[in-house]
Amino acid sequence: MVKKIWTDPVWSKVISVGIIGLLTLGYTKFVSVTEKVTYREAFNKILEIKIEVIYVVLALVAYWVLKFAYRKLIKKEKAYYSSKQQKLRSLNKTTDPNTGILFKWSVFFDYETPFISDLTAFCTKHGDTPIRFLGDSCSIQGCENSIQRIDRLAVKNLIESDLIDRWEKIK
Ligand SMILES: [Zn+2]
Repeated sequence: MVKKIWTDPVWSKVISVGIIGLLTLGYTKFVSVTEKVTYREAFNKILEIKIEVIYVVLALVAYWVLKFAYRKLIKKEKAYYSSKQQKLRSLNKTTDPNTGILFKWSVFFDYETPFISDLTAFCTKHGDTPIRFLGDSCSIQGCENSIQRIDRLAVKNLIESDLIDRWEKIK
């Protein structure tokens, strides 16, 4: 509960200001006692220092607000896709464990429904570099993926079904 309030952006500031206020009042009392002046005189004395401090703080706050606003603007320009859409867009490849075929694609949105484009298949059975399919099969002779042809439409449909399901869950 305490942690929740403290991490809340508004409440944490309210509490911070409250603590600073209490500290100031306490310090004023301390100064008035130690320097043998009235509470009011001590307060005025602290106020003079505080006003100078406030200018510095205000300058810092202004700098921070401008920086924040600038970043937001830049970010807004860049973020053509929402963060949830970006999350779904990052799911752009998978390897079929049975055949060793790596599929890559790009995710787009037709209004609110995800679909894929640029589906490309690669064979991962020939060293570190996945070899791109030529047509619908592996281009390396003798590879079992060169005999078996892939059904692009079926693969596309499977991937899109999975994406639609995920999209519905994260929406
Ligand atoms: Zn192959």
